[in-house]
Amino acid sequence: MEKYSHVKQIGKGSYGEVWLVRHCTSSKQCVLKQINIQHASKRERCAALLEVQLLATLKHPNIVSYLNSFQSPDGILNIIMGYCEGGDLYSLIRKRKGSLFDESQVAQWSIQICMALQYLHDHKILHRDLKTQNIFLTKNKVIKVGDLGIARVLDGTLDMATTLIGTPYYMSPELFSNKPYNHKSDVWSLGCCLYEMATLRHAFNAQNLNSLMYKVLQGKLPPMPKHYSLELQALIKSMLSCCPEHRPSIRQILENEYIHKHMEIFL
Ligand code: ADP
Ligand code: MG
Repeated sequence: MEKYSHVKQIGKGSYGEVWLVRHCTSSKQCVLKQINIQHASKRERCAALLEVQLLATLKHPNIVSYLNSFQSPDGILNIIMGYCEGGDLYSLIRKRKGSLFDESQVAQWSIQICMALQYLHDHKILHRDLKTQNIFLTKNKVIKVGDLGIARVLDGTLDMATTLIGTPYYMSPELFSNKPYNHKSDVWSLGCCLYEMATLRHAFNAQNLNSLMYKVLQGKLPPMPKHYSLELQALIKSMLSCCPEHRPSIRQILENEYIHKHMEIFL
């Protein structure tokens, strides 16, 4: 087994601790995410391990890399992944203190998140927990989408309730209506993330779950700052269509004229 030494704790995940570690032979910095699967059944634990192995096969420049995984005797699933020094997008947005990002920055990050989602969707994987807290940045401010599939892995053990205790701000109308999650639900969450990047606020916000559900199902979106082009506003709006069929697929978003224009600048 590869050896890692603990550097410091960097987070407290919903399922366990997150540590910055150093790979002993290469001295490369990595992240160790510990997930307590002690209380899961044997079948669920096997499924979780298989799932993590599958995640390790995914390789994309805008997805947090899964480097290694092992189970310790105390029933903890350990996952080693790439370290994103730039932290998460949520914290970065909070640090802006109301000063908006340049439109080209918003467009570039949007493209990078879409590229990651397209890769996942092409591999028949849904993210299911896309939110600014799960979108990380390298030190050069390149996007790395993280927290892949773990929610799905643990669906059997820690269910919907946990999601609700977590962050319901990105939940689509179909989820509030108890309909199944599909790839367009990821597009809804993407729309919420882009809205948040552009406005530094949640697209849908409320004091409690009931009024949040009311707002989401009502489908009325608070306006976006005039700061951004109408094209960007329209694109974000389309992702937040109440009816999943009316939302563009990730492929369609990447074919969008506005996105194309910004991709050329990017390349
Ligand atoms: P969970 O979503 O299960 O609560 P996270 O994966 O979001 O756990 O991890 C919790 C915190 O740990 C994150 O908010 C972030 O600050 C930090 N973190 C997690 N993964 C990474 C990573 N790959 N690089 C840098 N920081 C990370
Ligand atoms: Mg997370």
